[in-house]
Amino acid sequence: MLSLDGKTALITGSGRGIGKAIALRFAEAGAKVVVNSLSPAGEEVAAHIRSNGGQAVFVQADVSQSSGVDALFKAAQEAFGGVDILVNNAGITRDQLTMRLSEEDWDSVIQTNLKSVFLCSKAALRQMLKNRWGRIINLSSIVGLKGNPGQANYAAAKAGILGFSCSLAKEVASRNITVNSIAPGFIETDMTAALSEEQRQAITERIPMQKLGTVEDVAACALYLAKEDAKYITGQVISLDGGMSII
Ligand code: NAP
Repeated sequence: MLSLDGKTALITGSGRGIGKAIALRFAEAGAKVVVNSLSPAGEEVAAHIRSNGGQAVFVQADVSQSSGVDALFKAAQEAFGGVDILVNNAGITRDQLTMRLSEEDWDSVIQTNLKSVFLCSKAALRQMLKNRWGRIINLSSIVGLKGNPGQANYAAAKAGILGFSCSLAKEVASRNITVNSIAPGFIETDMTAALSEEQRQAITERIPMQKLGTVEDVAACALYLAKEDAKYITGQVISLDGGMSII
């Protein structure tokens, strides 16, 4: 029996990058997967899972809006009867020094990276509470722990996720629902592809392992937190950063 057999996992923002790797890894582990992205990109991910014998549906929805979240969870309910494992992964950056940061770029990052975590968790909890079992895994960031110039909006959202996760973990622990966060450092994805060679060099020098992480590194951690094995871990944040946060 595979470790996620019989479970349904919904991964927000799983059309590419870290979310896609988590969707593929969870499907390999036997989960039925709800793939989501803002653009139609996630359709290919769901098709790939199905072509490998897995079960997956794609739902194009904007998780920064309650109407999008309602549509996403309605589709998950219709396809697989609900959600056991929620990975709040969708995220964007709108980088700018605070003095030049527009209210619009503040709001869009908070809405997409933080409000979506509240909306999706609330939607998933109804059934998790009924089932007396659930897993919520949130993608925070080293930037939420340490800050980063030009990313005050992103850092605020990612730090907000940590406070939210601890509070929710305390609210639902007695129902066998765990809520944990992963704080990646720098991972090779479209988000970090935007870095200049100079920025990449400077970052690599600050990482004890002297390289960026891979999406598979993050997926392996998410899989562990989703499994029955991790049932006594809640309210935690796991730094996944090649040692960057310990220096
Ligand atoms: P990415 O490659 O930019 O992919 C982001 C995904 O989120 C895409 O599938 C995108 O959909 C989706 N998305 C964005 N806004 C959305 C919305 N409103 N509704 C639904 N989906 C939405 O990002 P990534 O690098 O894989 O990062 C994934 C998560 O890890 C993010 O929360 C990020 O902050 C966090 N993280 C990443 C790193 C890193 O180094 N990469 C480090 C620390 C934390 P489309 O494909 O349709 O655009």
